[in-house]
Amino acid sequence: MSKKILITGAAGFLGSHLCDRFISEGYHVIGMDNLITGDMQNIEHLMPLPNFEFYHHDVSKYVHVPGHLDYVLHFASPASPIDYLKIPIQTLKVGSLGTHNLLGLAKAKNARLLIASTSEVYGDPAVHPQTEDYWGNVNPVGPRGVYDEAKRFQEAITMAYHTYHGLETRIVRIFNTYGPRMRLNDGRVLPAFIGQAIRGEDLTVFGDGSQTRAFCYVDDLVEGIYRLLHSDYASPVNIGNPDEITIKDFAEEILALTGANQKIIYHNLPVDDPKQRQPDITLAKQLLNWEPKVNRKDGLEKTYAYFKSLSQEALYNKAHNDFSGYKK
Ligand code: UDP
Repeated sequence: MSKKILITGAAGFLGSHLCDRFISEGYHVIGMDNLITGDMQNIEHLMPLPNFEFYHHDVSKYVHVPGHLDYVLHFASPASPIDYLKIPIQTLKVGSLGTHNLLGLAKAKNARLLIASTSEVYGDPAVHPQTEDYWGNVNPVGPRGVYDEAKRFQEAITMAYHTYHGLETRIVRIFNTYGPRMRLNDGRVLPAFIGQAIRGEDLTVFGDGSQTRAFCYVDDLVEGIYRLLHSDYASPVNIGNPDEITIKDFAEEILALTGANQKIIYHNLPVDDPKQRQPDITLAKQLLNWEPKVNRKDGLEKTYAYFKSLSQEALYNKAHNDFSGYKK
């Protein structure tokens, strides 16, 4: 019998790539999503497959899955600062109540649960690069607090189920990741810049652009998660690409990539925007024999090709979330 895995946030950017990976490894995949930020187009190609099922459900409410389950991956959550501002309560609930429901499900099914945590648990970090033993610098009541604190609670309750109930759990701390299927209008820097370049608009750098990020291509991230799930390590593990770049230089790379001749314009830096971020991946290297393989040039080319292939409607006003045609 094939292994059965529940993936929450299945219609999202990362969730849909994880569905693809586990389908290709021969698993029976149950995708779950409430489609607040997910997009059915991301998993449309999986819908006809006999080993893929989709449940339209909000994991903040009681989660029922019939039959046995071997693994649960909890990837449901808004994941961009613009989304946290629009839907702060849902963001808090999916990280806290949603995680609690999935822990209960995993315990009842004797399944292994991997949760998607984030570099946001480090906040605006005072330690650079960030190692897993750094406890972070988070503003609980700032605009990012709804995400950061939900994710910190998520790690805490996951560890509690591990130590108290002996549940098999894994925690991945995901750093900035990019690739095809990112939502064009979620406000994240890469779709923002590429969308602007394609539409002939100036590129909006926030602040003076000296803040740094380090971008990981989605296939590398998925490989790291796959390896972590099958490891026996319950404490958090950073997965990301340490190749750090300033946001201003990143904007210039996007202009060079797209051949756009617009300018860079400067806007105010959002509140609590981390000044620097770079994963220390020593642990992932030792534990999982993992490191990223895709350099930014190649990853950006693939991502740009995806955005160019979108319809005009998607480029200007991405319509999504019409679930009506997909019910099995
Ligand atoms: N950013 C920017 N212009 C944009 C969108 C984002 O300069 O149009 C900056 C943002 O202020 C941050 C960085 O790019 O410093 C990464 O932002 P993103 O929202 O992608 O992720 P996060 O801040 O969560 O890493």
